Amino acid sequence: MNEFDLINKYFNFPSISADLGIGDDAALINKNKNEFYAISVDTLNLNHHFTKTSDPYYLGWKSLAVNISDIVAMGGMPKYALLSLSILEPEDSWLSKFAKGLRACAKKYNVELIGGDTNKGSPSISITIIGDVLKKNVLRRDQVEINDEIWLTSEVGYAALHFQYNNIPQKNRQTISNCLKKSAHESFVKPIPPLGFIQKAKSLIHSAIDLSDGLAGDLQHITLKNGFGAKIYIDKIPMHKWFRENNFYELALTGGEDYQILFTAPVKNNHKINSLLKKFSMKGAMIGHVSNKKSIQYELNGQPFHLSKDGFRHFG
Ligand code: ADP
Ligand code: MG
Repeated sequence: MNEFDLINKYFNFPSISADLGIGDDAALINKNKNEFYAISVDTLNLNHHFTKTSDPYYLGWKSLAVNISDIVAMGGMPKYALLSLSILEPEDSWLSKFAKGLRACAKKYNVELIGGDTNKGSPSISITIIGDVLKKNVLRRDQVEINDEIWLTSEVGYAALHFQYNNIPQKNRQTISNCLKKSAHESFVKPIPPLGFIQKAKSLIHSAIDLSDGLAGDLQHITLKNGFGAKIYIDKIPMHKWFRENNFYELALTGGEDYQILFTAPVKNNHKINSLLKKFSMKGAMIGHVSNKKSIQYELNGQPFHLSKDGFRHFG
């Protein structure tokens, strides 16, 4: 049973008064005539998401950034955070670096830490985030339409290249430049959700999801789950040229932890979206179309391309 089967089997309680409950990047609750609150929680655990030697500054940054990413994916503005922290010992140097990273991320995205919980226990960092979303521009996973174009806000694969580095065969590994190694590390430890771009683009977009578990798996949540499919052109997917030269498409598409946004939009908005991407100096691109085929077809240089897996699953 993977995480999604588990949630469905045990926790898929029906919504009573929430405008949107389980199943999207964040839940939506009425705030006023024009806005929803968007609420989400994400956790990083020792030995699963980080290790004893992980830099605490970046852990502080990342634990908030992965939550901001879910609010961005709803078309929202992140506002407030609650931090639940479990640690074995209160170590001053670790805590001050962690707090510094958390504060830097909170400052960049204008998020206020308004509460939390501190416990002795197996190291774990859990943040609950609350944001505002304009009702008229909310980006739900289920608002996809047939023939929508599918877009990515930026390149994928960097973070996966970093955390899978030791599993990459030596002959491919030796072609990884120091510069690429540095970018891969930076992407993994310091994700930067594209808030500014999505805020400007949201009125042009139908639906969106943030990429935490890998493009291939997350794409299924907005297509197959809604009874649609997709045609994806791997040549169009923005990624570092190393992935193409080494034929490592699978790592870029299924590795995960990209924290970019995958979104769909009507064809008529193509030019406007492209200009916005340029304006924000983002390497995003249109990568395919939503189809009514109920399957996802990948194409590379005009030939069908088959992935052997689709993405990361806890317990998968
Ligand atoms: P994301 O990757 O965007 O953080 P997840 O894949 O973790 O989302 O979760 C998918 C959906 O299931 C979300 O709407 C989330 O709120 C919900 N969910 C996850 N775990 C639970 C749980 N234990 N109980 C209820 N809902 C859950
Ligand atoms: Mg998400």
